[in-house]
Amino acid sequence: MAKLHERIANTRKDFHWKVAHQLCEQAKTIFVEDLNLVGLSRGMLGKHCLDAGWGQFFQILEQCCFKRGVYFQKVDSKKTSQICPNCGTETGKKDLSERVHVCGNCGYTTDRDVAAAQVVLNRGCAAVGQTVKMRGFG
Ligand SMILES: [Zn+2]
Repeated sequence: MAKLHERIANTRKDFHWKVAHQLCEQAKTIFVEDLNLVGLSRGMLGKHCLDAGWGQFFQILEQCCFKRGVYFQKVDSKKTSQICPNCGTETGKKDLSERVHVCGNCGYTTDRDVAAAQVVLNRGCAAVGQTVKMRGFG
């Protein structure tokens, strides 16, 4: 049993490195949400977050970025799913079943995960003193 667990852990690690390398090939700069994993694991997403090895993946991604000269930075994860990436308006809490971001202020509409990622990108860029043009996302 212990051996099996070790093998699963190693396979997962290999997979994480693969994904990390792929990401490093696509980007010169990577921003991630500084998720409170322990808090999340106690909350509604339950144990899945820890089981999925998110914490380990971020560590591997950070190491991978360091090795390959890709800029890596964690940004504040507060309300990334509640803010319009286009105009900055708070659009309110979304239920997990709500998959689409629709801004009542500027009309920007996109997948909720895409919107949250764009908020992370905006924050990351603000943190390093660059501005992003939203149109680039298509
Ligand atoms: Zn908006």
